Amino acid sequence: MELPFAESYKIKMVEAIRKSTREEREKWIREAGYNVFNLTSAQVYIDLLTDSGTGAMSDRQWSAMMVGDESYAGASSYYKLKDVVRDITGFEWFLPTHQGRAAENVLFSTLVREGDIVPGNSHFDTTKGHIEFRKATAADCTVDAAEDTTLDHPFKGNIDLLKLEDVLSSYPAERIPFVIVTVTCNSSGGQPVSMDNLRAVREMANRYGVPVIFDAARFAENAWFIKEREKLYSDKSIKEIVREMFSYADAMTMSSKKDGIVNMGGFIAFRKEEWFREASVYNILFEGFITYGGMSGRDMNALAQGLVEGTDYEYLRTRIRQIEYLDGLLRQYNIPVQTPVGGHAVFVDAGRFLPHLPREEFVGQALVVELYLEAGVRATEIGTLLADRDPETRENRYPAVEFVRLAVPRRVYTNNHMDVVAAALKNIYDRRDEIRRGYRIVKEAPIMRHFTVELEKI
Ligand SMILES: *Cc1c(COP(=O)(O)O)cnc(C)c1O
Repeated sequence: MELPFAESYKIKMVEAIRKSTREEREKWIREAGYNVFNLTSAQVYIDLLTDSGTGAMSDRQWSAMMVGDESYAGASSYYKLKDVVRDITGFEWFLPTHQGRAAENVLFSTLVREGDIVPGNSHFDTTKGHIEFRKATAADCTVDAAEDTTLDHPFKGNIDLLKLEDVLSSYPAERIPFVIVTVTCNSSGGQPVSMDNLRAVREMANRYGVPVIFDAARFAENAWFIKEREKLYSDKSIKEIVREMFSYADAMTMSSKKDGIVNMGGFIAFRKEEWFREASVYNILFEGFITYGGMSGRDMNALAQGLVEGTDYEYLRTRIRQIEYLDGLLRQYNIPVQTPVGGHAVFVDAGRFLPHLPREEFVGQALVVELYLEAGVRATEIGTLLADRDPETRENRYPAVEFVRLAVPRRVYTNNHMDVVAAALKNIYDRRDEIRRGYRIVKEAPIMRHFTVELEKI
């Protein structure tokens, strides 16, 4: 018989986690203002809040930390990381930052001005935040297919070229600092962007004289899907695919907390020295000297090793197989999820799960709270709460889909944990008609409200 698939690693260190009672969770979530960001980690049994910075480092990463060089300037850890980044991405110029949004802050300080338009596939929340904070506008050009969770489309992260051309042709090039492509596209469900689309975006941007930047937090998972779903690439190595992807960009921002498999870190990489020089000023101002940028030497060492492991074929296979496993269980239970499954998470379509709840009552959040109450599983809402208010009208922005994201940390949970998550959702689905009302906001911040919002039950 054919041998079954198994993980490409074994476990050397464990952390105990504890189940709680429903009574405990009812008290805790009330005290947290029905916002799971306000829960303590000890109040959570299985934590699928995010895959960001929550991965397990390898023995090689931990050992690399022991030989970190903590020199202020010119540390060997910096050069080691710079070499790995060049080898993987092909970019010559590089600046470390303490995380992904810091990379955005530095690069956008260099490139984005008031009144600018920044087209892209669904901008990540901090990316959008950094654009809107500078009084510029993010123009979402994602393909419409991403909005229909029942539709099977291999690359729902793709940019709709007609929408992009519409933006590029409506404004002078000086008003468009760059096109930003998020790989994979987090907001639509960890959905990949095809190589064909990356190439076409590059060609179109060239015609309009506009640069292209990748928000590359999950570039390796994106490469995996190109290999799996794009015919011409099935025989190419992950490394070759990654190199070709980045060949279509002028620069990248990276949250290393995702495919870099470290708990903290980020960077910017550039093709042009000029941008690197300009951004260096802001890096020194906001992050630190250009050879550490908010990272310690040991953390740069761990990241250099993490990037090598994060682009390894067997690792990626293990990673995506686990997401597919969870997705498969949920489909078996008829739970509505984004089709096909993406890279770092399963996205439940809360609007189809609880169709009787009005959107003003935060349908996704209602399901997040139910899931926590049912099994101590912490997920996150990617819906109206996250979409926030329109900066002009201050009205709620209603996104196309009310998602609940089950983000799976890298190398942390087993498929037994995934069984618990799926069973909990099934129990809720079976009694979904009993969930009659949602939530209203008691307190919220003026920008990125979902992190700190406080809610009450209606
Ligand atoms: C996480 C993330 C960011 C921001 O990075 P942080 O490290 O959390 O600051 C930006 N873009 C995407 C696509 C992300 O997933």
